[in-house]
Amino acid sequence: MSLSPDARSTAVGSLREPGTGPIFLPDEPGYDAARAAWMAATDQRPAAVATPTTPAEVAAVVKAAAAAGLRVAPQSTGHSASPLPGRGLDDVVLVRTGALDEVTIDAANRRARVGSGVVWEPAVTAAAEHGLAALHGSSPNVGIAGYSLGGGASWYARQLGLATNSLTGVELITADGELVRASHTENPDLFWALRGGGGSFGVVTALEFRLYDFSTAYAGLLLWDVADAERVLRTWARWAPAAPEAITTAFRILNLPPLPDIPEVVRGRHIAVIDGAILADDDRAAEILAELRAQRPEVDTFARVPTPAITRIHMDPEPPTPAVTNGALLAAFPDAAVDAFVAELGVGTRSTLFFGELRQLGGALVRPAEGGGALDRLDGDFSVLGVAIVPTPQARAAGEADARALVTALAPWANGRHYLNFTERADVDPRTFFPEEVWSRLTAIRATVDPGGLFVANHPIGREAAPVG
Ligand SMILES: Cc1cc2nc3c(=O)[nH]c(=O)nc-3n(C[C@H](O)[C@H](O)[C@H](O)COP(=O)(O)OP(=O)(O)OC[C@H]3O[C@@H](n4cnc5c(N)ncnc54)[C@H](O)[C@@H]3O)c2cc1C
Repeated sequence: MSLSPDARSTAVGSLREPGTGPIFLPDEPGYDAARAAWMAATDQRPAAVATPTTPAEVAAVVKAAAAAGLRVAPQSTGHSASPLPGRGLDDVVLVRTGALDEVTIDAANRRARVGSGVVWEPAVTAAAEHGLAALHGSSPNVGIAGYSLGGGASWYARQLGLATNSLTGVELITADGELVRASHTENPDLFWALRGGGGSFGVVTALEFRLYDFSTAYAGLLLWDVADAERVLRTWARWAPAAPEAITTAFRILNLPPLPDIPEVVRGRHIAVIDGAILADDDRAAEILAELRAQRPEVDTFARVPTPAITRIHMDPEPPTPAVTNGALLAAFPDAAVDAFVAELGVGTRSTLFFGELRQLGGALVRPAEGGGALDRLDGDFSVLGVAIVPTPQARAAGEADARALVTALAPWANGRHYLNFTERADVDPRTFFPEEVWSRLTAIRATVDPGGLFVANHPIGREAAPVG
């Protein structure tokens, strides 16, 4: 929807009611800082940005936006902001939940409760102090909210499943401005939809999830020069599907820039890396890794590591980063796929990608979870993701083309499905995240809890017959 400048200014002016908390309008000081996403290539320019500090302020913003004829886009860190401008932001209040940052650990019941602005590292550290672990992802500062609502593939995923299956409760402000709790026993349909359906159902203010009885794992990385990439990838791709569920890994070919803050051993180099974690004692972990270690890595950092440090083994960038990506889920990765991957990124190639990544799926990641929600597993044995860092428009065009080329090269093994959390483009049909019957149930629930289409998610769930949006 596009508002005239006058209508927009009247609508956003009415947001500043008592109780709505900080509101930033275009051209006001603070607007640019408030709208800035972690995904820094994304220029999101909503009608207004709200940065509420309490659930009551979130509720007041949602009510005021609805009364003014505006829509509401929930966002915590903006790690997955790229698709959002494609949804149209002229009439949208972006609600940034970063200030909802409380972390509580209930060690006796192995539960965490976090505000919807909390990122992984503080929660993982708080849990580890009690000898417990959460199903965090590869980055310390991805938001728990977006990650958990979209699935959540951790380094423990082949044994413990998607993180969304470990949610035990979600609190959110729904379209009528009320604070609602969803769990297995309260609003169970909504709870089902929230677990994998993303941000189309309300502004989440808090999440509760199960913790697990460990605070270390055998984790690290193995590194080779790119000259060894084909041999190593062939071994990894054959080993991965049948590997014990205790291990979850990724294989990447990386092109590292010659920047001073990159460790000297890899600075400016073209390398192959396998990293991940093993939930087993050291002897068993060494047995599980033996076949990969037999490929004689130049660097081997696998060792027993506390879980907070495992949030950094993948070396994901932490400051806001201008990146573009393309990805897919793959049914298999036979030798011909190895050839195709190496032809895109191996020795002598000129790809502008920062890295091409394959994640090892399977195990608990592909099994239905008892009592699970809309996305209780990932369909496929591997995921592929091409990532380019794009500080300029020219770099962006090249990066998008190279990321697309990587995914196209692997298209013969793609199963037509995508993983919501690894999808950073607005042109991927959200129906491809789910089996057909799941999509139908999701749209029916959205039509019930948000009949007017108030909420704008990066990857929207439609409302039955209404167009996706
Ligand atoms: C460097 C990096 C590493 C990653 N590693 C992993 C990984 O290991 N495993 C994995 O599964 N994924 C991973 N991801 C993907 C990540 O899970 C998604 O990008 C996720 O959406 C990020 O959540 P966020 O809240 O930080 O992002 P945001 O961009 O803030 O949110 C994304 C979407 O989630 C919804 N949302 C966020 N907050 C709320 C809220 N309070 N209420 C309602 N809806 C909300 C909205 O629809 C929003 O558009 C990674 C991404 C990056 C960039």
